[in-house]
Amino acid sequence: MLKQKNLIFVGAPGAGKGTFSSLLLERHPMAHISTGDILRDEVKRDTELGREAAKLMNAGKLVPDEIIAGMVRDRLTWADCENGFILDGFPRTIRQAELLDEALKSLGKQLDRVVYFKVDDQTILKRLTARQNCKKCGKIYNKLFMPTKVENICDDCGSEVFQRPDDSLETAKSRLEVFYRQTLPLIEYYSKKNLLLEITELDKDRICEILSSELE
Ligand code: ADP
Ligand code: ZN
Repeated sequence: MLKQKNLIFVGAPGAGKGTFSSLLLERHPMAHISTGDILRDEVKRDTELGREAAKLMNAGKLVPDEIIAGMVRDRLTWADCENGFILDGFPRTIRQAELLDEALKSLGKQLDRVVYFKVDDQTILKRLTARQNCKKCGKIYNKLFMPTKVENICDDCGSEVFQRPDDSLETAKSRLEVFYRQTLPLIEYYSKKNLLLEITELDKDRICEILSSELE
């Protein structure tokens, strides 16, 4: 069983952060904080933040650091974070990482591991443009690699699956570019802090075992 662990999942869009979060959460209940999910929820509820965020997201750009860091800071005060948490898709810039450090310090928490999902570009683009999400429960599928049993219908809840607007080829390419320019520097940032665990495609099938054993 995992002790209380505070984790960050870093990786290019489509590297598998969300998918492996779900797998790990099945075994180890902890808080799952996906900034992409939080933003998509704001968009759905048509809040002011949601309307601003939608423009940036659809262009493949990042939402401003201070806004996103404030959102995460609030979320980290929820009681479920006592069991540990996975930050999925945050931080994405050095500035966000610094703001996170400050937030954690003031909340008396610390990071245990930063998991970097390393995947090559061709695989990423192929995956992103074939990705589908369930409208209702959010489960992630892939037309090529992890299709639904019945075409376009979620295996779990029977609702329709759809392609995220930012998973079009053009937007996917800009998101990948943003990843290299703004997010990749985090690898060095966390490696210096001795927190980094790199996971490649080869480890994919053993990922839960690796994480579990690393995190005992
Ligand atoms: P993926 O990891 O597949 O790119 P996410 O669901 O994590 O997708 O994010 C979707 C979009 O939401 C991003 O392209 C960006 O516009 C916005 N977003 C999510 N997390 C952050 C963040 N930490 N900082 C800035 N923008 C973010
Ligand atoms: Zn579903």
